[in-house]
Amino acid sequence: MKRFFSIILAVLMLASALVGCGDDKKPTQNNDGFLTVYFFDVGQADSSLLLFPDDTVMLIDAGNKADGEEIADFIDDLNIDVIDYFVCTHPHEDHIGGALDIFDEFKVLNVCVPNIDADFLPDTLIYKNLVTAIEMEGSREIKLSGGTAVIEKEHYNVTALSPSKSSVFSDMNDYSLTLLVNCFTNTILFTGDAEAPAELDMLASGINLDADILKVGHHGSGNSSTEDLLKAVTPQVSVISCGEGNTYGHPHDDAVKRLGKIGSRVFRTDTVGTVIAKCHNGGFNIETDSSIELDGNR
Ligand SMILES: [Zn+2]
Repeated sequence: MKRFFSIILAVLMLASALVGCGDDKKPTQNNDGFLTVYFFDVGQADSSLLLFPDDTVMLIDAGNKADGEEIADFIDDLNIDVIDYFVCTHPHEDHIGGALDIFDEFKVLNVCVPNIDADFLPDTLIYKNLVTAIEMEGSREIKLSGGTAVIEKEHYNVTALSPSKSSVFSDMNDYSLTLLVNCFTNTILFTGDAEAPAELDMLASGINLDADILKVGHHGSGNSSTEDLLKAVTPQVSVISCGEGNTYGHPHDDAVKRLGKIGSRVFRTDTVGTVIAKCHNGGFNIETDSSIELDGNR
C-alpha cells in the first residue's frame, strides 16, 4: 500500500514539473483597464512606474544605485518580466543609479533618453555603465526631443515636451526628458529635474501643458515649478519625490507655497511614502502607501 502511494506521489510530482516546464512566461499583470502610476518612495531620488490599460509597462527613472534592487523586486512581484519603455530622464545618479538592476532583472525593449549633444554627455562611470547595459541588452535606444510622440494608442498617448532640439543649457538638469501622458480623461506631466530655463522653453513651445497631476520638477527645488509654469499646468495634484531630512532642503518652501497658491494638493514621498494614482475613464484616485518604501539607502 505504501509503495502504491509512493508511485501516486511520484506521478503527481512529475505532472507538476511538466506543468512548470511549459510555464516559462509569467502571466501578464492584469491592470483592469486602468492606468496605474506608482510614484515610488525612493528617498532623495526619482522613480515612477506606469502600468497602462493594455499592460504596456513604462518605468521613468530607477532611483539611486542602492534603490535598484528594491525597485526591481517590487516590479517583479507584480509578475512583470518585460519593461516596454525604460525612460532615463537625464544621466544623474539619483535617476539612473539603479538602472543596472533593471537590465539584470527584466527584458527592456526600449530605452528613452533626452536628445543631448554628445559633447555635453557626462564621463561618469554610472553613465558609461548605462550605455554598456543598453548595448548588451540590445534595447532600442530612442533619443527624444520636445514635440515627439513616444506612444500613440487608442486610449492613451505619451509625448516628449523637452528638451527642444535648439536648447543650450548650462545645467544637465534642464536637459531632462519631460513627458506628458494622456490617458482617458487624465493628463500627467513628468518633468524630471527640469528647472526654470527648461520650463521657459516648454512654455515658449506653445504646447498645451494643462495637466491633472504634476510630478514636480527637481524634487521640489525652489528654481523649479515657477509661477508661469504652474499657471499653464494648473495641477489638481502635485507629487514631490524627496528624501526625509535631505541636505538639499527639498522641497523648497517657495515651491511648496507656489503650489499651494494655485490650489494644488501636494503629496510628498518623504512624508506619505509611495503615491499611487489610479486613472480611469472619468477621473483618477490617489492612494498613498508608506509600506512601499524602496529607498535602498534607508
Ligand atoms: Zn534628481
